[in-house]
Amino acid sequence: MTTARKTVHPTHHRVLNPATGETVATVPATTAPEVDAAVARAAAAQRHWAAAAPADRARLLRRFAVVVDGHIEELARLEVRQAGHTIGNARWEAGNVRDLLDYSAGGVERLTGRQIPVAGGLDITLLEPLGVVGVIAPWNFPLPIAAWGSAPALAAGNAVLLKPAETTPLTALRLAELALEAGLPEHLFQVLPGAGDTAGRALVDHHGVAKIVFTGSTRVGRSVAARCAEQMKPATLELGGKSPNVIFADADLDAAAAAAPMSFLDNSGQDCCARSRILVQRTVYDRFLELLAPAIEAVVVGDPADEKTQMGPLISRHQLDRVRGHVPDDLTGIRGAAPEGPGFWFPPTVLTGVAPDAPVAREEVFGPVAVVLPFEDEADAVRLANATDYGLSGSLWTRDLGRAVRVSRAIQAGNLSVNSHSSVRYGTPFGGFKQSGLGRELGPDALTAFTETKNVFFSTEA
Ligand code: NAD
Repeated sequence: MTTARKTVHPTHHRVLNPATGETVATVPATTAPEVDAAVARAAAAQRHWAAAAPADRARLLRRFAVVVDGHIEELARLEVRQAGHTIGNARWEAGNVRDLLDYSAGGVERLTGRQIPVAGGLDITLLEPLGVVGVIAPWNFPLPIAAWGSAPALAAGNAVLLKPAETTPLTALRLAELALEAGLPEHLFQVLPGAGDTAGRALVDHHGVAKIVFTGSTRVGRSVAARCAEQMKPATLELGGKSPNVIFADADLDAAAAAAPMSFLDNSGQDCCARSRILVQRTVYDRFLELLAPAIEAVVVGDPADEKTQMGPLISRHQLDRVRGHVPDDLTGIRGAAPEGPGFWFPPTVLTGVAPDAPVAREEVFGPVAVVLPFEDEADAVRLANATDYGLSGSLWTRDLGRAVRVSRAIQAGNLSVNSHSSVRYGTPFGGFKQSGLGRELGPDALTAFTETKNVFFSTEA
């Protein structure tokens, strides 16, 4: 006899609680013909949306933000269950959706073109909405990444089709319900759960989808970009990272060691901005490790729903196996603790004595694993920081202002932080150099990325 646990219909995805391995929900997977129908509905909704008064569009997005605000706790609890995020993080993530909707709403009436001096007439530029935008999100930050693409796209007058990751569709689906509750027009913001190579691929290849915002692995991002190129379809790509945390001998070592653990353990290391390469000037290397060890061991790993927990499980068995594959059995370094039993748990892990060109020092692990490498001087630090194919974020710790400026200029990354580990603010641009991506999200120009510039000349000679 078959049971519901063993046989999930192939057109459905099972969503598991990563802390227990138990099934939370099964969700229908969108088929390619269903994507076609969704695009047609979205295109019709978009025409009305773009024609509405800007103040009305802004008001509806603000109302959406208010409705999300009223459901922060519900969204956060759902994220804990489907993604294993700590409850504190999940509340911040739901709040980030609210804040981004508010911020984007503020842009609707400020999305202005230009008036350019020309001979014989008047020249203006119009920022036209693109039409239907496809947003493809990963599982590591389902709520914020859904909003980073969707909120500014809607604000700029577009419709949005959001495809969440297979493992984490529930909060995105709830957001779509909240949008309707807030009064957003039907079909303007649709969520299409499903497989990357069917629903995701259908969105990318659809001629009715004007732009793709893709966040995920560099491998898939490259193929999405190539398929978009077939149609000259613009794509914003937010991809992987292997970010450095550079600690100079003149830094406040206590502060740097205290901040280092959560800079790569937050979200169990499943963070494209994780500072997973800790580069320490050789003269303070031993002292730094002495300070780092108790800080790592003190990290509270466990039930993500517990308010005190700092780190929860990995997202899936697949991810756990991937992370294990990066860590040698005979590791030297620092090891924290993790629960045993059901769920996808891996302890905080710091590797020392690793060659700078070893795979674990260069490839994205996407788990709670960092390497510590010594460097000699400023030039060596910059060389090592840039010795990766990625360039998403990074941090540097120094009390020397001139060095902070020089090294910030020299590191090839889109988001740097001095004497802290901040990466993401909705009001500042975010994105990567090199294999970490193409284009920028968030910040003051976020809406412009969802428009096409049209130049119009009015002759005064006629
Ligand atoms: P992934 O590339 O496997 O999947 C990402 C999304 O793409 C999912 O929704 C998936 O279903 C979809 N997809 C898969 N194949 C597709 C295809 N052929 N066509 C269209 N869509 C397809 O990545 P993941 O494992 O879900 O996420 C982890 C990765 O995301 C990491 O590498 C991480 O660094 C990256 N990430 C980057 C950022 C950033 O802003 N730079 C943020 C978060 C995560």
